[in-house]
Amino acid sequence: MNYCSHCGASVERAVPDGDNRERYICRECGLIHYQNPKIVAGILPWRGDQILLCKRAIEPRRGLWTLPAGFMELGETTREAALRETWEEATAQVKHPELYLVFNIPHIDQVYMIFRGELENTDFAPGEESLETRLFSEADIPWRELAFSSIKASLTQYFTDRRDNHFPVHMEDLKR
Ligand SMILES: [Zn+2]
Repeated sequence: MNYCSHCGASVERAVPDGDNRERYICRECGLIHYQNPKIVAGILPWRGDQILLCKRAIEPRRGLWTLPAGFMELGETTREAALRETWEEATAQVKHPELYLVFNIPHIDQVYMIFRGELENTDFAPGEESLETRLFSEADIPWRELAFSSIKASLTQYFTDRRDNHFPVHMEDLKR
């Protein structure tokens, strides 16, 4: 960050009074620009013994497979964000999504919140951010063509839990 988004003056790095770490502070208006991690919300959509994946049409990781997920918008709940992303990326609708996985990814300052939900139907299709949408059985998952480590971790956990048909909420820290 070089300039204040409030007044346009240049910012500097300094520890504000009463704080304990450096922030961007505007030299002109004094506004402190706090920066915090972003939340990515998504869904692991299942139907029978299959999972819906989307092939990414956008960078990063274009052409690789992912679960429908994306950054929360202002004013949304995490569940609303997950449902919206699933609709945008796969025109898919999911019944009663429940929180299933939380990934802390501190080196990119993101928190993933992945819900688990049954597909309403098979009327899914690629949205603008997807090249292809497809149901995969465990044996067909393209493990070497998954877009992100969080997606690989999600699918691995899901197939493990499915053996007992028990899906507690998991939280995991993903390292670089
Ligand atoms: Zn300013």
